[in-house]
Amino acid sequence: MSDILKTLHGNRLAAPFARALGLPKPVTLARAAGGYEAQPFSGQAALLLPAGGGYAAQALRSALEDAGASVASALPEDERQQAGIVVMDATGCRSPADYRALYDSFHPIMRRIARNGRVLIAAPLPEAGGDPVQAAVARGIEGFSRSLGKELGRKGICVNTAYVAAGAEDRLAGVVRFFCGKQSTYVSGQAVRVTARVAAPRALPQAQAMAGKTALVTGGARGIGKAIVERLSQEGARVICLDVAATAEELRSTCAQFGAIPLTLDITAPDAPVQLADFLRGQGGGLDILVHNAGVTRDRTLSNMKPQDWDVVVNINFAAITAIDAALLSGGLLRDEGRIVYLSSISGVAGNFGQTNYAATKAALIGYAAAQAPLLAARGICANAIAPGFIETAMTAKLPFFTREIGSRLNALMQAGQPRDAAELVAFLSSPGAYGVSGETIRVCGQGVMGA
Ligand code: NAD
Repeated sequence: MSDILKTLHGNRLAAPFARALGLPKPVTLARAAGGYEAQPFSGQAALLLPAGGGYAAQALRSALEDAGASVASALPEDERQQAGIVVMDATGCRSPADYRALYDSFHPIMRRIARNGRVLIAAPLPEAGGDPVQAAVARGIEGFSRSLGKELGRKGICVNTAYVAAGAEDRLAGVVRFFCGKQSTYVSGQAVRVTARVAAPRALPQAQAMAGKTALVTGGARGIGKAIVERLSQEGARVICLDVAATAEELRSTCAQFGAIPLTLDITAPDAPVQLADFLRGQGGGLDILVHNAGVTRDRTLSNMKPQDWDVVVNINFAAITAIDAALLSGGLLRDEGRIVYLSSISGVAGNFGQTNYAATKAALIGYAAAQAPLLAARGICANAIAPGFIETAMTAKLPFFTREIGSRLNALMQAGQPRDAAELVAFLSSPGAYGVSGETIRVCGQGVMGA
C-alpha cells in the first residue's frame, strides 16, 4: 500500500502544498534485505563511555566489532561526519548526578546521528539492587531513551534501552546485533531486559543462525506470518507453515516460495494439538522454534458484541495457543534451547476501542510469556511476546481510510510498519543469540503513541 504523505511530498506539484499545510514528511525507512550474514554493520559506531565507568563496555565493544563495525569512543573531529550506530554504556549510572552523563554524551552529537541510525543505551537492571535510588536512576534511563526516540524518530532513527543484569553482559552480542542493525527498523522506544535466567546454548553459530532447526509458524500463509516464514527460512530453518483450509492457495504459494512445509489445520479444532503432535512425530521429531502468529479480530464495542465474536477471538488468539503449548511441552516436542514467540499486540499493552475481546487475549499472551519463561529457563528455552503496532496486512487493510491513516501515523516514525518489520523481531527472538531475553514483550510499533 502506498504512503499518501510520502507520495504527496515526493510529487513536484503537490510538495509545496504539502509543506504549506505542514503535513508531516515521513522518512523512507531502510530495511534489511537478506539474513544477518548479508547485512554486516558498516562504518563508524560510537561507543560512549561515561567517566564513571560501567560493566558492559567490553561486551558492547566486542559485539559491535564482531558484527563488523569500527568502534571509536567519540565521533570524529570533523563535524560533517556522522555515526550510524551510537551505543552508550550507562550501566555505571547509580545516582541522580550520574544523569549528567546522558546529557553530556548525547547533547553534542544529536545532529550527527545518521538518518536511519540506531541508538542503544545499556542500563543497569532496575530491580537488581536493593537501593531504591539506584533502582529509580536505572529506570529513568528508559524515560530518557524513549524521549530521545521521539526526537530522533523523524530521521528514522530507532532508540532502545537494554537493561543488563550484572553477570549477563556476555549475552549482549545478539541484542546488539538486532537493536543496532537494519533489522530493528520499526522497533523504537523499547526497553529489553537481558539476564542470565536461561541456560546458555551449547554453541552459538555465527552464520545461518537457524541451520538445523525446525520451526512452526501458525497462520503462516499470509501477512506477518508469511514474512516470518520467509525470515526463518533465510536464516536456515526448516519451516512448517500452518494455516486453515480456506487459505489453501496462499498456503501453497507461500510454501513454494520459501521452501516451507505446508500444514492445513484449524488451531481451534478440538483435536488440533493431537493432530499437530502426530504431524511433528511423522516429520521426524520436535520443534526448535514455535511462533504463535495466527490471530483474528472481531471488532465491536462491548455493548454490540455478539457472543460468537467474543468466543472466536478468545479461542483462536488464546485458548488454542495454551492447548498447543501444553500438548507440545508434555509430549516432549519442543526441544531444549527452543524458542517460543507469541504475537501479542499494542492493543494488549494499551487496550483499544472496540477491541475488548482482542485486547484481553493479546494482554493474556504478554502475561503468558512472562509466566512461561521461568518454567522453561532450565531447559534453555526462551518464551517472549512481540506486540506489533500498525502493520500493513489484510487485517489492517479492512479498516476505513481515516482510521487507517490515524492508526498508522501516531508513532515516532509517522508511518505504518511492514510485515517484515515484525518478522525481523520474531527472527531475533527465535535465534540462539537471544538467550539473554526471556519473558519479555517487545513492541514493534515505530514507538507508537498508544500505550507508550
Ligand atoms: P492476517 O489476518 O493477515 O493473518 C492471520 C493468519 O492467521 C491468516 O493466514 C489466517 O488464515 C490465520 N488463522 C486465522 N485463524 C486461524 C486458525 N483458527 N487456525 C490457523 N490459522 C488461522 O493477520 P496479520 O495482520 O498478519 O496478523 C498476524 C498476527 O499479528 C495476529 O496474531 C495479529 O493479531 C497480530 N497483530 C497484527 C497487527 C497488524 O497491524 N497487522 C497488529 C498487532 C498484532
